[in-house]
Amino acid sequence: MAYVQDYLQRQRDYLLSISRAMTARLDLPSLLQLIISKAVEMLRGEAGLIALQGRDGSFHVRASIGLPPSTLQLFAPLLTDIPLQRTHWPMPDLYTRLRLVAASAGINLRQVVGLPLTLDDRLIGLIYVFRTHDTAFSADDRQVLSSFADQAAIAVRNATLYQQLAEEKRRVEAIIENSADGVLILDAQCRIEIMNRALAEMTGWTAEQAHGQPCWRVIALRNAQGIHLCETECPLRALQNEGKLQIEGDIIRTDGHRTSVSITYSPLYDNEGTLVNIIGNVHDVTRFREAEEMKAMFISVISHELKTPVALIKGYASTLRREDAHWDENTVRESLEIIEEESDRLHHLINNLLEASRIQAGMLKLELSDVAIPKLAAKTVGRFRVQATKHDLQLDFPEDFPPVLADEERLQEVFSNLISNAIKYSPEGGTIRVGGRVYPDYVELYVSDTGPGIPLEKQSRLFEPFYRVDSGLGRRTQGVGLGLFLCKAIVEGHGGRIWVESTPGQGATFRFTLPLRQP
Ligand code: ADP
Repeated sequence: MAYVQDYLQRQRDYLLSISRAMTARLDLPSLLQLIISKAVEMLRGEAGLIALQGRDGSFHVRASIGLPPSTLQLFAPLLTDIPLQRTHWPMPDLYTRLRLVAASAGINLRQVVGLPLTLDDRLIGLIYVFRTHDTAFSADDRQVLSSFADQAAIAVRNATLYQQLAEEKRRVEAIIENSADGVLILDAQCRIEIMNRALAEMTGWTAEQAHGQPCWRVIALRNAQGIHLCETECPLRALQNEGKLQIEGDIIRTDGHRTSVSITYSPLYDNEGTLVNIIGNVHDVTRFREAEEMKAMFISVISHELKTPVALIKGYASTLRREDAHWDENTVRESLEIIEEESDRLHHLINNLLEASRIQAGMLKLELSDVAIPKLAAKTVGRFRVQATKHDLQLDFPEDFPPVLADEERLQEVFSNLISNAIKYSPEGGTIRVGGRVYPDYVELYVSDTGPGIPLEKQSRLFEPFYRVDSGLGRRTQGVGLGLFLCKAIVEGHGGRIWVESTPGQGATFRFTLPLRQP
């Protein structure tokens, strides 16, 4: 009798200390291991298992003790057709199932007690304790297991919720981290708590370096007037008044790289209405800004380039028309020449604009035929020789240059643009060479000059539409920055490549390739 009392007392003590330990544990696998090992110990069993219900409704063993892991999938008979109500336990055919499992797993399991883990009448799992000897589980054992199962179910629910929360947190963190926009989370004092990868890239700070820093130190945002926005307009103050704040400016990276951004700050309040965080969404608007600048530049350059020839044509035409004046033959011829030249220039500019808009709309269509490139180059050079009196124009093609399948008119446009640039940008004169080389699969053509050349850092942008090198010379010469853009589109339309090689002060060589048809 004393022995039984001692046993019951021990079970109660156990229950108390274990429920404390269980509720403190939030890591689900280790909690389940604790539950099953304590249940087995308390009921003086030798083995046990816990199965939890998966999303599909079926049960899977999640923790066990005293059972070889390789046998766990053989416990399925004890995990199917489960009575939901505890009052329906033990299930009638429990021992038939136990014998089946014991035989297939080859384990000597003689006695079993099992119970559902339920929470608010909802089944969340099952717990089984086994004995390998014949002493049957008593009604007390069942009672103890039942109270234990209630505690265990609460602990399992808490740990499951905690795990779901942790997973949700990881998911949100992954979304923030991988967002293409910069994301910034500030505390109520405008110090950085979280900064994602996109923003780290824009600022040059790592998330670890930025953590705890005041926002203005990391987001060195300046507006067009160079005013440090984050410092003068701490988002906090503006948010309190307006609820949301949008700031535009440039983030200057530690290495000097500049990104134009638009930042929207939104406040995050807790249930009591206290500001806890400020969320900043940082959108890279560099391309948009560039497009805006390009549009503005386009309008000013185009209007200038159109106005000049129109003014000249109109000026000369109205002078010639004056009825009160008589012009000698020379003046008339020179005036008409200017009118003709300026009309040509207008014609060329309008053509380039039309061609550029066609390319941007993806409508460049090539009329292909076999083209004798040395002849085409010679014809184009011949045309330019007349105007380029200061320059020595030379041709450099091997004898056996093969015909190339190309759009002759467009190819002539490429040569014209490159040669006219070579002349235009070497105003002191010099040698301009136009030539080609033959390779097994392609031909390489070039136009070289001995002018001032192009600074290395500008070379990659030359082929962008409306891009002009901002040197004294570039601005003084006429042009809208479309020539090289058109050359690139035409060459690439043929399946070739175009690039420039230039050492400033030593001239520039523009090269492009055209593929040869495979025989
Ligand atoms: P545009 O000549 O109308 O300005 P392009 O697209 O033909 O436009 O050329 C873009 C820029 O590249 C020019 O403004 C000029 O600064 C530079 N460039 C082109 N060719 C040469 C060259 N041969 N030598 C030096 N600079 C050149």
